[in-house]
Amino acid sequence: MSYVDNVLNELILKNPGQPEFHQAATEVLNTLKPVIESNAKYQKSSLLERLVEPERQIMFRVPWTDDNGNVHVNRGYRVQFNSAIGPFKGGLRFHPSVNLSIIKFLGFEQIFKNSLTGLPIGGGKGGSDFDPKGKSDNEVMRFCQSFMTELYKYIGADMDVPAGDIGVGGREVGYMYGQYKRITGLYEGVLTGKGLTFGGSLVRTEATGYGLVYLVEEMLNAKGKSFKGQTVVISGAGNVAVYAAEKAVQLGAKVVSLSDSTGYIYDKDGIDIEFVKELKFVKRGRLSEYTKQRPNAEYHDGKGVWNIKCDIALPCATQNELDENDAKTLISNGCYAVGEGANMPSTLEAINVFLENKVLFAPAKAANAGGVATSALEMSQNSQRLSWTFEEVDSKLKNIMVNIYHNMDKAAENYNMKDNFVAGANIAGFVKVADAMIAQGVI
Ligand code: GLU
Repeated sequence: MSYVDNVLNELILKNPGQPEFHQAATEVLNTLKPVIESNAKYQKSSLLERLVEPERQIMFRVPWTDDNGNVHVNRGYRVQFNSAIGPFKGGLRFHPSVNLSIIKFLGFEQIFKNSLTGLPIGGGKGGSDFDPKGKSDNEVMRFCQSFMTELYKYIGADMDVPAGDIGVGGREVGYMYGQYKRITGLYEGVLTGKGLTFGGSLVRTEATGYGLVYLVEEMLNAKGKSFKGQTVVISGAGNVAVYAAEKAVQLGAKVVSLSDSTGYIYDKDGIDIEFVKELKFVKRGRLSEYTKQRPNAEYHDGKGVWNIKCDIALPCATQNELDENDAKTLISNGCYAVGEGANMPSTLEAINVFLENKVLFAPAKAANAGGVATSALEMSQNSQRLSWTFEEVDSKLKNIMVNIYHNMDKAAENYNMKDNFVAGANIAGFVKVADAMIAQGVI
C-alpha cells in the first residue's frame, strides 16, 4: 500500500464519524501522490501524518440567554490546523449543522487556500451550532459576547485571526470584536471583516465573490473565452453569491439564478441584484419574496438550481450542494465551466464527472481564496495603521487571483496533469506549507 493510502486509512480509523473531513483529506492527499512519490523527504519526515493532525482543537460551552430569559447552550469550536507559514487564519461559521467534522474539513482546506494566496497566513477555522436565523439583534449580541468570552484566550493578531463565514457577517464580527477589546484592552486586528469605522478593509465584503469571477475570467481567457454574453447559474444568496453575480454582470454575463436554503429563483431576463442586496442584507428576508418585485421570474421550492441551462455554473452556497447527477445534468445542458465559490460544494463524484468531461473546473481552494486574501490585506492595513482605497485593494485582489490561476495551472502542467486544476491547486498550496514545516524541524 502506498504512503498516501496508509495515511488516509489511519486518518479514517483515528477520526471516526467525520465524513466531511475524510472527504476533504481524500481529495487533497490523492492528488498529492505524484509529488510525494517523487520527493522522498516528505515521507521521511512523516510530513503527511503531521499535516492531517491539527496543531490544536478547542471545543467549549457557549451559554446565552434569549429575550424571554430562557438559557440556551451551544457548542463553540476553533481548530488551529497549521501555522507553518503564518498565524492561524480562517472564518467562523454559525449554522445548526456545525460539528467537529465540518470545522476540520474547513480548517484543512484553509491551509492550502491560504498558502495559494501567496500571503503569510496559516490555516484554521471555527464556529458554533448556533443558528442566527430568527434571532433578535440582542440575542445575537449576547451569543457573540459569550462565544468571545471563551475564545479570546486562544486568539490574537499574531496568533490566530478569525473572520466570517456562513452565518457570521459584519454584525457578528462587530459584536465579537467589541467583546475581545473589552476583555483584553487591546485594539488590534484580531478579527477581519470588521466595520469600516474600526479597522475593516474596503472590498472585504465583495472580495470572495469578486475574486471568484476574476479567477474564472482568467481561466476562460486562457482558452479564448470570457464571461461576456454567457449565461451564468449561481447558487446561494449570501455575500459570495451576490457579489459574484454583480462582478459577472459587470463583465457582460447574464446571471439567471440564486438560491437559499428553501428554494431558488430563475429570472431569464437576469437577476435584479440591487433588489436582492436590499432583501437579503438589509431586510434579512427570503428569496421567495423576489417574485413580488419581478413577476416574470420564477421561484421554486427545494433544490433544482443545477437543472437550469447555462454556460457557466458558480456553486456559492455550501458543502456537497452539487452531486454526480447535478454535474451530468449541467454538462448535458451545455455547461462548460464551473467555479466553486463555496467551500467543497462539489462531491468527489461530481468533480470526477467534470474532469472526465473536460469541463473547466476551478476548485474552491483557488477560486474562493479572494475572501481570505483580502482578510490578509486587512491585517496588513491594521499593522500599518493605514487604510487603502477601494481601487488599491481591488487591484491587489485581482492580481492575487490571476496569480493563483497561473500557479495552479503551472503546477498541474509540471506533473503532467494539464488543466486538472484540482491537482494543480492542491500541489501548489501543499509544497509551500510542507517545505516550511520541514525547514522548521519536527513541529
Ligand atoms: N470564511 C472565508 C473562507 O472560507 C474567509 C476566511 C477569512 O477571511 O479569514 O475562506
